Amino acid sequence: AHLNGADVEELVRPNTRMIYFETPVNPTLELIDMESLCAKVKNINAGRREEERIFVVVDNTFASPYCQRPLEFGVDFVVASLTKHISGFGTDMGGIVVGPKKYYGEMMLYRKDFGGVLSGKHAWPFLVYGLPSLATRLRQTMRTATELAKFLETHPKVDHVLYPGLESFPQRELARKQMRSYDGSFAPSSLLYFVLKGSPEEAKEKGMKLMNWLADKSLSYTLAVSLGHCKTLIEHPSSMTHSSMACDDQVKAGIDPGGVRIACGLEEPAMLIDEMESGLKQI
Ligand SMILES: *Cc1c(COP(=O)(O)O)cnc(C)c1O
Repeated sequence: AHLNGADVEELVRPNTRMIYFETPVNPTLELIDMESLCAKVKNINAGRREEERIFVVVDNTFASPYCQRPLEFGVDFVVASLTKHISGFGTDMGGIVVGPKKYYGEMMLYRKDFGGVLSGKHAWPFLVYGLPSLATRLRQTMRTATELAKFLETHPKVDHVLYPGLESFPQRELARKQMRSYDGSFAPSSLLYFVLKGSPEEAKEKGMKLMNWLADKSLSYTLAVSLGHCKTLIEHPSSMTHSSMACDDQVKAGIDPGGVRIACGLEEPAMLIDEMESGLKQI
């Protein structure tokens, strides 16, 4: 959130060399305005020597290259997990760095010293199955996310839904500017986040109950913190990824105790909606 404010100049210190962030942000899907941030960093860099310049690095895992290409907005390097959207089937692990060719030598040196090299056998599924099906999978899962988000938005037990593809998304304009597919059409990816009604403690209980019921009783939801899988994954950050924080601290940090994250897979949207409706009846 600080990165969207006018205070980047204040956050940067003389020894700052890198600004590293993800957009959309996990789990709330808040977006960082990359073009505006990069313009500010460019200004700061104009007053610095080359060895002291600040690099802007974006983790593009949530959007995938189908939905967002940060280099177009002035970002220096993109990193992404191959494990998620690019693999697509939750079967392989890997990562990529994309940046200017002039840093290739340094990157290779780093790779030699620290390892992290994909073997041919492990590169194969990304190149042969993952990348060629990325666009098709994303087009389908984005449609599903849109339908599910619209359903959740009308449900009386849901306080609000955050999905960059919704008209109600707080950063609707920014989403339309920076989340675009190869052909220029709007591509808000396939993760959505919704918050259940109730006091922090009540909502936390409900989020956990909904997730566990769906994981246990439904056919189409799988409990897991990953994303970009052919299966739809559900997680409740308050009791999973962010469970080490107390309920009050979660609220202060902007993590809603009643927040639930869904990473849409390739199941039929009608079935996902149907089972979600049944799950919401249980809480
Ligand atoms: C999962 C994830 C990673 C790490 O990727 P692995 O391939 O699982 O190591 C990094 N960034 C984001 C945003 C992720 O969702």
